Parts: sequence; structure tokens; C-alpha cells
Amino acid sequence: GNLETQVEAVSTDELGAVASAFNNLVGQLKRTEQARKHLVADVAHELRTPLSIINGQLELIEQGIKASDIENLLPIHDEVFRLTQLVNDLHQLTIAEAGKLVLNKQLVDMPSLVERIVENFQMATEDNGVSVKFGTDVEELSIPVDRNRLTQVLINLIGNAVRYTPEGGTVEVIVARRDEYAEIKVKDTGVGIAPDHQAHIFDRFYRADEDRTRDTGGTGLGLAIAKEFVEAHGGNIELSSTVGVGSAFTVHLPLPKSNMKGA
Ligand code: ADP
Repeated sequence: GNLETQVEAVSTDELGAVASAFNNLVGQLKRTEQARKHLVADVAHELRTPLSIINGQLELIEQGIKASDIENLLPIHDEVFRLTQLVNDLHQLTIAEAGKLVLNKQLVDMPSLVERIVENFQMATEDNGVSVKFGTDVEELSIPVDRNRLTQVLINLIGNAVRYTPEGGTVEVIVARRDEYAEIKVKDTGVGIAPDHQAHIFDRFYRADEDRTRDTGGTGLGLAIAKEFVEAHGGNIELSSTVGVGSAFTVHLPLPKSNMKGA
């Protein structure tokens, strides 16, 4: 063809590219804006229940219907504790989601760290009929991690495993070494998670059973935080679960090059 039609063809293409880039950008902005609106709505929803409980209790005390003794202040303390936890979790999560998490990495021996956390759970769960066990196939496996962040991840995963496992059940925490990564598996004989829920379980405030899990404790942010923290280390978390049988959450953390098999 002649030069003119060529030029025209190019510029139409270019215009098309600019238009589609623009559309993508607008799409992205809309999604970000939607995500922000959702977050605000979610947080408002999560704050409402504890605040209305605190409000109600305080009114009863003010009207002299309840004494302002320890007994009647306890539910208020519980809810304030919950709110504090929620705000702290949200803070951590928003920092992580913005990619602004600063990891304070140091070499940490995985089996020792995990065993110590399991021991703490064993003491705490002595009376509630769920046994927590530790196992490993390596004596020593040091990898560079942010000790506090990783501890938080494990507390969230083991805490959930204990929480969603009925009396008489077992939670097993196993550290293993694979070719290129360290593996920490938290396996329970609990209620399990239905396939429909599995895809969403790491979303903030997502609960497989809203009614059941609201009063069992967590902020609904535990898994979202665990995922962000592990990904910040270059790792990932895998879930496999069967309703009525149990769940296994597996954390993979990359080994430093010098620690890989054969290196
Ligand atoms: P929550 O504070 O509600 O526990 P999480 O983010 O830690 O929030 O977990 C999200 C949801 O995933 C829980 O509400 C629960 O429905 C489900 N879940 C998490 N861990 C387990 C588990 N080990 N067994 C069964 N369900 C689980």
C-alpha cells in the first residue's frame, strides 16, 4: 500500500493501544476504589458488634441495673481486647497489602522455633481436649526469616487448627525439608472446609460459617495476614481440606541457596 494508508494503519493501532491501556487503567482504578469501599464497609461491620456490646453493658451499669464490679466489666474488657486485636491486625494487613512490610530477617532454626510455639499451645490447650503434636524429619534447618512475623503466621494457623477441631481431635505440626524449600504443615482432624469456601478462605473477614466463627474468637484476618506474611518471604501457603475429616495448611519457605540439597 502507499505510505499514507500505512501511516493511518499504524496510528489507528497506536490509538487502539492507548485506548485499551486507558481502559485497563480505569478498570484498575475502579477495582482499587471498590476494594477500598469494601474494606471500609467490612471494617464498619466488624466494629459494630463489639461496640454495641460495650455500649449496652455500659448503659446497664450507668442506669444502676448492673454493678460496676469486675464481673460485669469482664465482657467489656473482652470486647475492648477484641477491638484492639482487630485494629492491630488491620494495621499489619494494610501495610503488607501495600507491599510496605519491612522484614527483619535473621537466621532462625525452623524445628526449634516451631517446637517452641507448639509447646506453648500444648500448655494452653491442656484442658480443652485437643492434643497438639510436633514432628520433624530434620534436626536443624536454619533459614532467614522475620522471626516475629513467622511466629504470628504459625500462631494463626495452629490457633485455627485448635479452634476448628472438636474435643478428642489432634493437631499435628510437622517441619520437613524439601529440595528447595522448608515445609511447615499444620494438620488437624477438625471440621474441614468445603470446596466452595476454600478459594475464599484467605480473603480478609471471610468466614466459612459466620455464626459459628464470630463467637469462637478470631478477627477474621488471621489467614489473610498469614498469607501476606508468607508471601513477603517469597513463600506460599497451600490448603487441602475435607469436610468432616480435617484440614492441612502447608507453608513453603524458600531455602537460602547454600542450604539447598546438592548445593
Ligand atoms: P477467623 O478469625 O474467623 O478464624 P481466619 O482468617 O483465621 O479468621 O479464618 C477464616 C475462616 O477460615 C474461619 O472463619 C473458618 O471458617 C475457616 N478456617 C480457618 N482455619 C480452619 C481450620 N483449620 N479448619 C476449619 N476451618 C478453618
